[in-house]
Amino acid sequence: MEDIEHIEKEMKLINSDGRRLDGRSFDELRPIRIEAGVLRRADGSAYIEWGGNKVLAAVYGPREAHPRHLQDPARALVQCRYNMAPFSVSDRKRPGPDRRSVEISKVISEAFSSVVFKEQFPRTSVDIFIEVLQADAGTRCAGLTAASVALADAGVPMRDLVTSCASGKIDDVVCLDLNKDEDNFGDADCPMAIVPRTGDVVLLQMDGHLTYDEFQKAMGLSIDATKRIYEMQRDALRRRYSVTLEDILKEAPPAAAPVEPEPEQPREDDFGPEGI
Ligand code: ADP
Repeated sequence: MEDIEHIEKEMKLINSDGRRLDGRSFDELRPIRIEAGVLRRADGSAYIEWGGNKVLAAVYGPREAHPRHLQDPARALVQCRYNMAPFSVSDRKRPGPDRRSVEISKVISEAFSSVVFKEQFPRTSVDIFIEVLQADAGTRCAGLTAASVALADAGVPMRDLVTSCASGKIDDVVCLDLNKDEDNFGDADCPMAIVPRTGDVVLLQMDGHLTYDEFQKAMGLSIDATKRIYEMQRDALRRRYSVTLEDILKEAPPAAAPVEPEPEQPREDDFGPEGI
């Protein structure tokens, strides 16, 4: 036990040139790629790669809420199930829900609950499924960001997309978007989610300790990053729904052979140039 604590204290997460172990600067995001509409059977879906994270999100609904006693006659329910695949982490994870996944599911459904126009769909449920295929810290932010695109892909009316990012502290430096080693051996991690159009913060958690000034700095880094991620989300949706002339031609049935106009027959009252 003492050995582990010693290793943790000795582990340097920021090099002498100020760069982090993966070469990033303190305010740099890991590479992010988002794709919308990846699953045929879901009403809406998205896939995100965020550094070493690989996460799928699928959305169903609004559909009749089951079991019926859960139905709200005034509004829709927004339900989320966050799940990590057994193969998503280096040691096999025991399948099924645990305390952590129940907590993450709850905070994500609450975040979306504040943006979905629930009153338009009484007695229904909007079901969000987040499947983490590969985890490398920041999976709740990646899952939430993908689920937001999947909700838009499903056509669920919302005030805006929700965008999420985390910042934390490593080696006494406030840094953006911690990876697994930084999350494990760092001092604090603070995931948040924001509605970019209104600036409303719809998720805020903290693991570890930040002073007031460090917290302000971490929020500043995260808010700045969410502006970039918001553009990536919108881009993914634009790519999904922008139809080019080439796409239309590809989808169109083969054009029928042109019909030759029949030669005009002289009518009975159609006298020739000579007339009568
Ligand atoms: P987040 O993924 O949102 O940062 P945590 O801070 O709880 O959530 O987890 C950080 C990382 O720790 C995860 O992304 C994952 O890589 C790893 N992790 C979480 N739970 C487990 C687990 N049960 N077994 C192995 N690794 C895990």
